[in-house]
Amino acid sequence: MRSRQIVIAGAGIAGLTAAIAFAKNGFSVQLYEQAAKLEDAGSGIQISPNATRVLAHLGVLEQLIATAVEPRAVVVREARKLKRLAEVPLGTKAEDRWGAPYLVAHRADLQTALLNRARREPDIRIVTGARLADAAFHPRGVTASIDLAGDVKEAACLLLVGADGVGSTVRSLGTRNAPPSYSGYAAWRSTVRADGPLGQSLLKAMPTDCVTVYANKRFHLVAYPIRGGSALNLVVIVDAKHAAARPGERGDPEVLARLMRGTAEPLSLLAREAAPWSLWPIREVPPDHPWTGGNGVALIGDAAHALTPFAAQGAAMAMEDAIILANLVAAMPDEIRAALARYEALRRPRIKRVEARGRFNHFAWHASGPIALVRNLVLRGRSGRQLAAELDWLYGFDATKLPEPEKKKRKGD
Ligand SMILES: Cc1cc2nc3c(=O)[nH]c(=O)nc-3n(C[C@H](O)[C@H](O)[C@H](O)COP(=O)(O)OP(=O)(O)OC[C@H]3O[C@@H](n4cnc5c(N)ncnc54)[C@H](O)[C@@H]3O)c2cc1C
Repeated sequence: MRSRQIVIAGAGIAGLTAAIAFAKNGFSVQLYEQAAKLEDAGSGIQISPNATRVLAHLGVLEQLIATAVEPRAVVVREARKLKRLAEVPLGTKAEDRWGAPYLVAHRADLQTALLNRARREPDIRIVTGARLADAAFHPRGVTASIDLAGDVKEAACLLLVGADGVGSTVRSLGTRNAPPSYSGYAAWRSTVRADGPLGQSLLKAMPTDCVTVYANKRFHLVAYPIRGGSALNLVVIVDAKHAAARPGERGDPEVLARLMRGTAEPLSLLAREAAPWSLWPIREVPPDHPWTGGNGVALIGDAAHALTPFAAQGAAMAMEDAIILANLVAAMPDEIRAALARYEALRRPRIKRVEARGRFNHFAWHASGPIALVRNLVLRGRSGRQLAAELDWLYGFDATKLPEPEKKKRKGD
């Protein structure tokens, strides 16, 4: 029995995707979530084509599409005069180019679509109020200890998947990974109703058919529609020496207003008018440390490699990790060590490339002085088609198909 059992810690985007992918491959999945109820913070998420391809393959996309928005473009503007610097075409052009849609959605809608799909699989058992507390590793599997409000139960499995986020417990139990650290950036988040007075006044600068990025040396703001365009999702990423006391605490609008001073209206008014803001310190886990332990443990998503959000790819990478891990274990269930080694070997170069792309975006968006002038010149000189082509490696990637193992080189080749 142990040979078909998978235990997953954490029912976020990574854990739910992994549960569906393993069940589709004939495994029996026990998914444990520490929270009493499955709910996500009320904010938005960009879901790029490399991720919607995974969702389509797992039968999740159909439900998500009903509430998501397919933006026409990503537009980058500088925040002082709102001048357009770059535009990457999306909509049908994204589907034609990358074979899957680029969507923006409310996180709760993505979570619900994943959860509803998982509930249709008879081989997935979801237990909430259940914290993965410990694990013992044997030559042929793992025994996970689950804490159900003080009552500890054991679950034997072939593989323990740590999908338990940036503060992962599994990371410290089964791998030689490092603890997370504060990145030095904080995210201010708010949602504005599109049909309210503020929403209406923002529409000119932040049209509801686009993702708009406003670049400034002190911050960058990302605005996009969610819930069929009935609301605008706002995220401001700022350099902040000190982390907030608690993730999600109320941010003081006056602090944000000072950071956004000197920008064009309506951005300079936004800090006060779009309050309340919730404040999220961004923690990161560099992607260089091990994500697997030979005896049957694997980390996916933020538990493995929490990235800063400058490439908007954390959840997309979590979905790619989940399906690739499930397909590899299904392809070689009797060679779990080899499957896990291949998972790391396949994923690490891609995750590092995404991390580097995020660093590049931060450099470009937060540039100032002469560097910002050069940036503006370079970006304005590039067509939408050229900018899209630079993202082919990222958005055109198909995680649903395992690459053929490289043929061993023969002597004399
Ligand atoms: C400001 C911001 C904007 C972002 N925007 C985007 C974007 O546009 N697109 C994108 O792709 N990504 C984006 N990301 C990244 C994305 O949000 C994360 O990468 C993604 O949510 C990680 O999902 P996860 O399932 O790995 O972790 P989490 O969402 O953290 O889920 C972990 C789950 O595990 C549970 N858990 C923890 N410990 C235990 C335990 N011991 N036992 C059982 N359960 C446990 C938790 O309660 C939680 O439910 C953004 C991030 C930030 C900060």
